Amino acid sequence: MSDAPLKQNLRLETELQFVKGIGPKLASVFSKNGIKTVGDFFENYPRAFEDRRAARHISTLKEDDIVSLKASIVNVSSYSMGRSSRKIYDILIKDESAQIRCKFFRVPYKGYFERFKPYQEVRVVGKVTNYRGRLEFHHPELKDVEIENTETAAEDLLVPIYVENEGIASNKIHKLIESAFQQLKEFPPESFPPSLMKSYDLITRAEALQKIHFPDVEFANDYHVFKSKAHRRIIFEEFFWLEMYLAARRSGLKKEKGLLIENKGALARALEKSLPFELTMAQKKSFAEIKTDFRSGQPMNRLVQGDVGSGKTLVSFLTVAEAFESGYQSCLMAPTEILSEQHFKNAQKILTPLGIAVGILTGKTKAKDRILLLEKLISGEIHLLIGTHALIEDWVQFCKLGLVIIDEQHRFGVAQRGLLKNKGQAQNKSPHFLIMTATPIPRTLAMTVYGDLDVSIINEMPKNRIPIQTRVITETKRAQAVKFMIEQIEKGRQAYVVYPLVEESEKIDLKNATNEYEKLKNEFPKVRFGLLHGKMKPIEKDEVMNQFREHKIDILVSTTVIEVGVDVPNANLMMIEHSERFGLSQLHQLRGRVGRGEHKSFCVMIMGYAMSPETRERIEFMEKTNDGFKVAEFDLEIRGPGEFMGVKQSGLPGFKMANLVRDFELLKAARDCAFEIFKSDPDLKRKENQLLREELIKTHGPTALAGIG
Ligand code: ADP
Ligand code: MG
Repeated sequence: MSDAPLKQNLRLETELQFVKGIGPKLASVFSKNGIKTVGDFFENYPRAFEDRRAARHISTLKEDDIVSLKASIVNVSSYSMGRSSRKIYDILIKDESAQIRCKFFRVPYKGYFERFKPYQEVRVVGKVTNYRGRLEFHHPELKDVEIENTETAAEDLLVPIYVENEGIASNKIHKLIESAFQQLKEFPPESFPPSLMKSYDLITRAEALQKIHFPDVEFANDYHVFKSKAHRRIIFEEFFWLEMYLAARRSGLKKEKGLLIENKGALARALEKSLPFELTMAQKKSFAEIKTDFRSGQPMNRLVQGDVGSGKTLVSFLTVAEAFESGYQSCLMAPTEILSEQHFKNAQKILTPLGIAVGILTGKTKAKDRILLLEKLISGEIHLLIGTHALIEDWVQFCKLGLVIIDEQHRFGVAQRGLLKNKGQAQNKSPHFLIMTATPIPRTLAMTVYGDLDVSIINEMPKNRIPIQTRVITETKRAQAVKFMIEQIEKGRQAYVVYPLVEESEKIDLKNATNEYEKLKNEFPKVRFGLLHGKMKPIEKDEVMNQFREHKIDILVSTTVIEVGVDVPNANLMMIEHSERFGLSQLHQLRGRVGRGEHKSFCVMIMGYAMSPETRERIEFMEKTNDGFKVAEFDLEIRGPGEFMGVKQSGLPGFKMANLVRDFELLKAARDCAFEIFKSDPDLKRKENQLLREELIKTHGPTALAGIG
């Protein structure tokens, strides 16, 4: 970084196009990947480092080595797997010592493979994978040696490797980052107080950004495992702001006065008596924890985590009964209309006999019904309101709201929880919050990620459940699976066929589901099929769902609209198409639709097209366990740095560098640190914490500190 000094006029907020060498056109390419400013550009961290300290030969490679070496191309070929149209690209390369295959399961960008020809000299950078006893590269970076920048290649022994977007080569990205550094006016002042940096042995942010892009070869081994000083600081910081946010919320919540809900528990007992089964120990324990919160004088903020079908909804109903007995209203928010209605029906069955009046509000509730509803809410005639996020709308007001229940929290943000707070709380005190999620994540992580919540875990299924048997198959065995499904139908059971619904390709998936529905209908005219997808009107969806519930439909072909909580005990088989497109936790949730009745249940996961061995291994894990916590642990473990597939579904925040499993120690440190700060300075008033305060508002918005001074 020693070129002639450039005009130093950039700030971190400056748009990328003003970096020398970038311009509007390149900037728009970066922008598509979320890199808009100079600051974003610096946070575009290398995904690996190319180690050029020792020349490597193919014959010396070992599994998991991350290497860079020169070789020449022997052959470029492509072939498809199974009946699918997806191709595997295979480039065989060699050096004096041996040869090795580079495999690609997708095309990085259009025209990528056309660039490579036999005899061409290339540099290959990537990780060595062991595939069935043979070493290969999967998705390595391949560069034509001719255009390799020989100057940097000679002097830099540890070269950062960036994700190549639309063909912008890694070394070009590196050059541009260097240019941005040179033009930067100055880094903003360090926001961490010196004491913090000292106790956690951290370097400054400015230094870390510099050292991540211009690594120190002396510490090459640390860089390879994401443990260099630069990595440590950046990872710590990513966790730190999340934990600060949670600690701030926690600190604010602790100060609020909560409603006292204290009674004889007569209604909850009556409810329990009315059930044809016993509560599980885990259900009893969760309910006891909730009752303790009710009596604590502080608002409850509790997360109940438990597998689908573990009986969370029932626990929430007990909670409603408890609140009602003390004269408080409750509301229950569910992510979809179907689920709202299911909860509504259940509540009418279980709660109404106890004198609890239940109302429902969804997107399709008519205007005049809304007025009526509002009247009844304000007069206190409705004791429990169930609905979709329509509940958040301004006009919804209660007279004595004491309890807010949110089902499947990952669909709602923390911010939305805040909106439900001011809806006519009793005595101007914050209502109690109960959040139910069927996305089990390991306990330690739950405490960390949902840092502002107390956690109850239902880790036990009702006794009457028979474990679901799961099979992962490829397209080739599909006919057999369909045959098996039809046999189940002939025995009087029902089944689901599920298609993934990935946003970008919504149309294609819709077509898939519709086509399959038509095909199956023609093939099995005696079987009653139904089709359910997100493009249908709510009324049509309900119609289909009700028919399925009433067993007027045998097989329901659907997209993932049935994802959460749907309860049809007679359905005992689920076929999931393109299972590779789902995260494991999501597959597990889907699977939870079956195994709810007295019959043995099955889940068949079909892998749609040519699959990398890693993907196959990932999906096949689903055969091994029915335990959602184990699935979640494995899901987290295999989720490599920078690859956050399924994060959205799991509700975990995405990080640019940090990895929840690999960096767990740092996560704990960051959490301790953040909570310690709020313990000693609950309002973040001290002078040395002022920059933290500002930064927190910058990263999480002005509401981050709502509730504290
Ligand atoms: P979740 O909300 O965790 O998915 P639900 O509360 O909807 O689970 O319960 C799923 C089904 O199991 C419901 O039909 C419910 O009545 C039933 N159920 C709940 N608790 C028990 C129990 N302890 N024993 C037997 N069945 C139960
Ligand atoms: Mg549920």
